[in-house]
Amino acid sequence: MAEPAITRQAVHVSAGSNLPVTRIVIHATCPDVGFPAASAHGAASGTARYFAQASSGGSAHYIEGIDAEEHCVADAAIAWHAPPNAHTIGVEITADGGDASAYGAHPEHAYTRAQWLSPQVWPAVVRAAARVAELCDRLGVPKVRLSVADLQAGKHGICGHVDVSKAFHQSDHSDPGPNFPWTEFMALVVGHANAAPSRAETRPSLRASTVNVATMQSAVHVAADGQWGPGTEHALAVVHYTARDRTYPWGVKALQAVLGVTADGVAGPATAAALRTAVVGVQRGLGVAADGAWGPATEHAFGDARNRYYMHF
Ligand SMILES: [Zn+2]
Repeated sequence: MAEPAITRQAVHVSAGSNLPVTRIVIHATCPDVGFPAASAHGAASGTARYFAQASSGGSAHYIEGIDAEEHCVADAAIAWHAPPNAHTIGVEITADGGDASAYGAHPEHAYTRAQWLSPQVWPAVVRAAARVAELCDRLGVPKVRLSVADLQAGKHGICGHVDVSKAFHQSDHSDPGPNFPWTEFMALVVGHANAAPSRAETRPSLRASTVNVATMQSAVHVAADGQWGPGTEHALAVVHYTARDRTYPWGVKALQAVLGVTADGVAGPATAAALRTAVVGVQRGLGVAADGAWGPATEHAFGDARNRYYMHF
């Protein structure tokens, strides 16, 4: 993939080249309005309009919302997002990470883990992960999360604004906040590597003809309209992570709601059986062997299908 077109140019850019890129920095826009307003429809374009004003005092290369992405600074230009800024790419997610140091008023607005994983916010996280994966592939940045010590040692990879603040003390922002779902985010970033569009083209296009989104929707009790929107993404994500990792990142009750079984919060045999049935349905929709176990083949096909039908890559 080539770099996408600029959708709305930001004002603040430093002189010099941003290439080569050594790290990608994740931000939350932190408008101090809390959940879910910070992630509302139109928030990405609103932030882009803000960056287009001289009074904004900052900028970033990409803004990822639940409904859209904005590209405000060319990858080869230096944005004002997390100093030292040269050779870094800033990716803003429309969300409230609290960021007490920047706004002060409402640090308690920091999204909880459940809010980050909710259907009102999760699509923006998925969109950001897809862009970060694409940037890593195109710009040669390792798909690894960096610690503060890694940053100080000059390692290349992915980190949060908070880590840059702690490593270099040139800003005091703490976004994307204490509850950002780094494990799920990095899993998406790495997963998209296996389903990168450039590699997908070297595979036969059988998935384009075999994927049936409506079948997958029926498996997770979503209206089978064939459109992979945020509601479908949430339901599929709950089944995906629960079946693949054998954990309950959204909680057992949320899983049971997706599976259509009594939401008693107890992960018993009925829930396990319903999860297996849901996975079989998703596998049928993906056109892979329907054995009820979320293995590598299912993971691969699911990543491809999500790219095609949800991210529109
Ligand atoms: Zn930031």
